[in-house]
Amino acid sequence: MKMYDVVIVGTGHGGAQAAISLRQFGFEGSILMVSRDTEPPYERPPLSKEYLAGDKPFERLLIRPAEFWDSKKIEIELGCNIVSIDAESHVAISEDDRRFAYGSLVWAAGGEPRMLSCPGAHLQGVHGVRSRADVDRIVASLRSGAHRIVVIGGGYVGLEAAAVLRKIGREVVLVEALPRVLSRVAGETISDFVQSMHTKQGVDLRLGVGVKRLVGDGFKVSGVELTDGIHIPADMVIVGIGIIPSVEPVKRTGATGENGIDVDKQCRTSVAGIFSIGDCACYANAWAGGRHFRVESVQNASDMANTVAKVLCGQDVTYDALPWFWSNQYDCRLQTAGLSVEYDQAVVRGSVAEAKFSLVYCKDGRVVAIDCVNNTKDYVQARKLIESRTKIDPVRLADASIPLKESVSQ
Ligand SMILES: Cc1cc2nc3c(=O)[nH]c(=O)nc-3n(C[C@H](O)[C@H](O)[C@H](O)COP(=O)(O)OP(=O)(O)OC[C@H]3O[C@@H](n4cnc5c(N)ncnc54)[C@H](O)[C@@H]3O)c2cc1C
Repeated sequence: MKMYDVVIVGTGHGGAQAAISLRQFGFEGSILMVSRDTEPPYERPPLSKEYLAGDKPFERLLIRPAEFWDSKKIEIELGCNIVSIDAESHVAISEDDRRFAYGSLVWAAGGEPRMLSCPGAHLQGVHGVRSRADVDRIVASLRSGAHRIVVIGGGYVGLEAAAVLRKIGREVVLVEALPRVLSRVAGETISDFVQSMHTKQGVDLRLGVGVKRLVGDGFKVSGVELTDGIHIPADMVIVGIGIIPSVEPVKRTGATGENGIDVDKQCRTSVAGIFSIGDCACYANAWAGGRHFRVESVQNASDMANTVAKVLCGQDVTYDALPWFWSNQYDCRLQTAGLSVEYDQAVVRGSVAEAKFSLVYCKDGRVVAIDCVNNTKDYVQARKLIESRTKIDPVRLADASIPLKESVSQ
């Protein structure tokens, strides 16, 4: 059995960045990345955007060119599903009994798409959107004529997929169980704007209604029956209702965590020698009053990866990077900084009608988060205001003719 100083499970944004950062920060020990994936590390955000639209080939999704990993002496074991960990003897074990001894283990395994649990959920033609293989299946089905698509879930992934499918001329019905889209991550002004944008583009939105069952024509999905009794015909169903964190092997070592794996400010789990980062890691978030939750974003995975790499290089650092996120739908660029989980005031700056505005979330007179629609200037300036926790003047803040950075309380 080969021994590695660091074994990283997962080659997504978190795992790949952890390996890159380790070398950047001067780590000279041996590094192995293992992944269930069969492709070298690649980016997921384009999967529901340019890759689904056929505007970006897979090669341009690669996080680094294939030769990079060799040149940095980072070994990669692909098609390798880790199913158990012997935390006492520091060994990670794969489904096909490959064994990897580690000094430290970084669990960066992300999650699997949450699928429906109603009758018909396993029919052919029902797809999640998490991996290249998922999107390749969707594209193949589109090429073979799928025209009427039902998207379940009004979060970012579902909305982005709906936007691409409309752009390529498919009929799209989007079903969201809650009364508005993006309700878990954005204020009403943003939800209203996004809903109206999709409606104008021809998406048939069904809000506040659930899925009762998927109906099949033989093995293949042919429709969706909603909880209000309405039947929607479908050639394909795309499910975008979040992820289930992939954490079972770590949980079986005794690591704590109700929602993913709990980690401290240095990304350490409760089990010695095991760290966790990215979508599957749950921690007390300094930007949300210390509430515990998982953050699913490239920023979070990459910044946690940097933290764990520094810790493994012996630096005394803690993870407290400001969360940020983006989404592209049609010609609209949405950018978010901070977390709008707790605020007492939401101020609109700019013109919603002209699709160039920001929704600024404040608490106790300070900006805590911002959602920007085609408004990068505000986004950049708000990040600094959030980080510095500066007191702002709400009247100046609401005046879009005054730069956001000048809305500071006099
Ligand atoms: C369609 C889509 C669009 C997105 N768009 C955006 C966006 O616009 N902006 C943004 O900030 N974020 C976006 N995200 C979220 C972002 O991609 C994730 O937050 C990010 O990929 C998390 O990185 P990660 O390394 O934690 O997990 P992942 O990227 O999911 O990587 C997990 C890795 O672990 C491997 N793995 C899992 N279990 C095992 C196991 N038992 N053994 C071995 N390997 C295992 C997987 O194969 C994979 O390689 C999007 C995500 C999706 C799916």
